[in-house]
Amino acid sequence: MIRSKILFIDDEKEILSAYESIFKVKENSHLNELESLLEEEPEEENVFEEDMLKVDYDIFTATQGEEGIAIFKEHNLEDNPFKIVFIDMRMPPGINGAETAEIIRALDDRVEIVIITAYSDLNLDEINRKVKSPDKLFYLKKPFYNEEIKQITLNLTVKYLNNEVKNRFVANVSHELRTPLASMLGFTKLLEKTEGLSRDQSELVSIIKDNSMLMEQLVNELLMSVQLQQKRLELKKETCNVKEVVKSVIKMMIPLFKNKKDVVLVAESCKENLICHWDAMRMKQVLINIVNNAYKFTHEGEVRISTELSKDGEVLIKIKDSGIGISEDVKEEIFGSFTRVEDKHHNTPGLGLGLNIVREIVEMHGGEVWVESELGSGSLFTLKFDQKGAA
Ligand code: ADP
Repeated sequence: MIRSKILFIDDEKEILSAYESIFKVKENSHLNELESLLEEEPEEENVFEEDMLKVDYDIFTATQGEEGIAIFKEHNLEDNPFKIVFIDMRMPPGINGAETAEIIRALDDRVEIVIITAYSDLNLDEINRKVKSPDKLFYLKKPFYNEEIKQITLNLTVKYLNNEVKNRFVANVSHELRTPLASMLGFTKLLEKTEGLSRDQSELVSIIKDNSMLMEQLVNELLMSVQLQQKRLELKKETCNVKEVVKSVIKMMIPLFKNKKDVVLVAESCKENLICHWDAMRMKQVLINIVNNAYKFTHEGEVRISTELSKDGEVLIKIKDSGIGISEDVKEEIFGSFTRVEDKHHNTPGLGLGLNIVREIVEMHGGEVWVESELGSGSLFTLKFDQKGAA
């Protein structure tokens, strides 16, 4: 049976009762097919027969933003989360709809949010930036028709389920690919050390190894991207010496740079002894992603890594390259999922997930990441962690 749990937050009681009356009747729908893909246990036979074509709307209501957030926290269960939250924009005396949406989004990245407003003076760009995931954020103007609400609810429920099916598919496939890939890589490394290989054979083994490593990296990116979306990635934070983390990344990246004779990796030594509260493994992944991009998109010159303490006591890590650069209009886009900028001259491999993972992990550490760049002159990626992030 399809369940669609929905929360309506509006300070006008009459509007809340209108919502409730819209969903009193169960809707016929084809949604059960999608939902059944997500169901692990088969439904009891009689229930399945009877409810095959129904959507079971589970409606929750709140008259203030704070109350809505409390209900969301209490009832947003792992196995039965809220699929949609409708939020009125102005709800005096409490926090407004945009603030409520921002808090709910921080609690759950997957939920579809609809902000309902009677006002046209909203700065939607600013709300989009604050609430994040603009692809799961909608605006609807008051007064609305009941049919509008019904239709939006149905469509967003299908969208939510489709997304879940896709995520589960990607997670399962990537997971299943990891084991055969690991053995391929392991055996190739063994083969590489075998004595008596001809020069051609060694070259072939090296090609198999490079491609297996690339595939492993892509599969790991896919898996991590799903885990991040589902908020299933937990950090194991510990006290880290920033210099040591950066040093070990440089050590890992040096062999790669040997493949490009016109590009050098330069590490500036950091004077201060900086300590941060990080998940060292994840932060290494972040830095490797950025340095790896700098390597991929630089064909001449250098990639320079530096670490410093800003005047305000923030830890700054900078990765500067002399590569192809990024144009102003896609500078923000590249931090989204599956975003790649066409590189006409060089066919570089990648899924367009790396920087999205970078930003998510940096933000999970309370930090910030941004890029300054000019087409043709190179890019500068800066990571910033304030004193809160530093132990
Ligand atoms: P991927 O590298 O797998 O394509 P990313 O999310 O890491 O995915 O990067 C997204 C896009 O941003 C890249 O495809 C590229 O177009 C652009 N990009 C990232 N880093 C750089 C860089 N240092 N120089 C130029 N373009 C870059």
